[in-house]
Amino acid sequence: MAYVISGDCISCGSCEGGCPVGAISQGDEHYVIDAGSCIDCGACADTCPVGAISQG
Ligand code: SF4
Ligand code: SF4
Repeated sequence: MAYVISGDCISCGSCEGGCPVGAISQGDEHYVIDAGSCIDCGACADTCPVGAISQG
């Protein structure tokens, strides 16, 4: 299961650069994770200031 970003995301962008496989990008309403690329490392969840990232 890939990690997912909820609507709580404030689009700060801090999680994007920390993803080792480049699975995070800016979406229409908030940042999104490409489920097909995510390797479930969990690094992004630790960097989010509002706790918007969790394992889906
Ligand atoms: S869990 Fe790891 S691989 Fe998946 S989006 Fe977050 S940082 Fe990237
Ligand atoms: S770190 Fe959290 S709030 Fe910032 S862009 Fe990523 S998911 Fe959104």
